[in-house]
Amino acid sequence: MITQTCQSTESTSDAVVIGGGPVGSYAALNLAKLGAKVSVFEEHHEIGLPSHCAGHLSIRSLRSIGLYPLPKGIVENTFDTANFYSPTGAKFALHLSQPVTAVLNRARFDQYLADQAIDAGAQFILDARVQSLAKANGFVRGVNVQRNGQKEEVYAKITLDSEGISSRLLKQAGLPALKPKGLVYGVEAEVENVRKIEPNAVEVYFGKSYAPGFYGWLIPKLDGTAKVGLATNQGNPHEFLISLMFKHPVASKQLSKAKITKIGYHAISLGGPISRTYGNGFLACGDCASQVKPTTGGGVIFGLTCAKIAAQTAFEALQHRDVSSNFLRVYQRRCSELLRFDFSVMLRLRSFLDSLSDEKVDEMLRFCGKLGVDRALTDVDEIDFQGKMILTVLGKPSMLAALAYFAMLYLSANP
Ligand SMILES: Cc1cc2nc3c(=O)[nH]c(=O)nc-3n(C[C@H](O)[C@H](O)[C@H](O)COP(=O)(O)OP(=O)(O)OC[C@H]3O[C@@H](n4cnc5c(N)ncnc54)[C@H](O)[C@@H]3O)c2cc1C
Repeated sequence: MITQTCQSTESTSDAVVIGGGPVGSYAALNLAKLGAKVSVFEEHHEIGLPSHCAGHLSIRSLRSIGLYPLPKGIVENTFDTANFYSPTGAKFALHLSQPVTAVLNRARFDQYLADQAIDAGAQFILDARVQSLAKANGFVRGVNVQRNGQKEEVYAKITLDSEGISSRLLKQAGLPALKPKGLVYGVEAEVENVRKIEPNAVEVYFGKSYAPGFYGWLIPKLDGTAKVGLATNQGNPHEFLISLMFKHPVASKQLSKAKITKIGYHAISLGGPISRTYGNGFLACGDCASQVKPTTGGGVIFGLTCAKIAAQTAFEALQHRDVSSNFLRVYQRRCSELLRFDFSVMLRLRSFLDSLSDEKVDEMLRFCGKLGVDRALTDVDEIDFQGKMILTVLGKPSMLAALAYFAMLYLSANP
């Protein structure tokens, strides 16, 4: 629970951060640690709520960012197994040699990051909605905030936008909008009374008939409840969720008696990073810049990774007294050097998955089982940098055979 928020806003900061999601808080934490005076504006009354995310993250990535292990109460379970299902119920099970992913209580995780930022010296102003960017002479010079029914202009030398997928303010800075074709619409629910699940396994349900343009998931928690959700590029996500829970040959056995205790809806951008993430006095990171994995929709790790780079770049710009886009472009170059290859592989994988009919998904999962792809992947612990991960396993004969087969499937679907 966030402990120290500010009642009065200091009207001048080195940096303002828009949005107290994980990305905004982590950017603020890094800026404050470097010594900058930073204020975060969050429109909600409480950090982390409402939560819309499954919070399923790679342990290795959290550890490499310095965020694992986490304090008690944030990690809800860890997983060494993933079961993938086709729409007819064909199963491909992947058993890994150690727990590779964790499911987090996202609200508590967000609150933990905000508390860390506050301890480092950042100021958080809640119930404060940034209405617009303040601009002068072609530069973003802070934000116009609506708070307690009052409007306030807050000056800052540099503004970091981490407003999430709405990306309304991003457009005011003249940055490109998210690609509408890359958007899918997600639903995430908490459920009780789930049956026939393995506590150490995440369930993934593919198929256009249940989650067109994405997939469905079931993530068990150690307390016996679970998270279930999906995303879709068409129709109503809630209707697809009900269909998954009651009609899918496997999910229905696990979920038809389940009771939904919480539910939330939110979009995910799968189109890869926007083509420009900086402007005069302005940097964008996280969902609003579409720094999200196109395969799985996971945006936390890449968002945090880019937030740290944004904080470092902003701090250097403050030191050089140069917040021009010419100086700030190094932010995009640094992110791109780290992530470009993985994004380009994942965009291709997304387009491959989108091209498959339900019959082909079925065939593919059965084929992976027969080839022993699971045995080739046993030691994998990297699930975020998927381009680099594929390169490390390609030496294994079953993976090469699988790749050849996937290429054939892709070409037959995209003649
Ligand atoms: C159904 C679903 C499941 C997901 N599951 C996963 C998962 O398992 N793993 C994973 O890695 N990712 C997952 N994601 C994606 C993940 O939720 C996002 O990538 C992540 O939350 C991005 O963080 P962010 O800080 O950029 O944006 P957000 O978390 O959206 O935070 C943005 C913050 O900005 C605030 N804000 C917005 N506008 C303003 C304004 N004008 N003024 C002030 N404040 C403002 C918002 O209130 C919010 O608190 C999922 C997404 C969905 C929809």
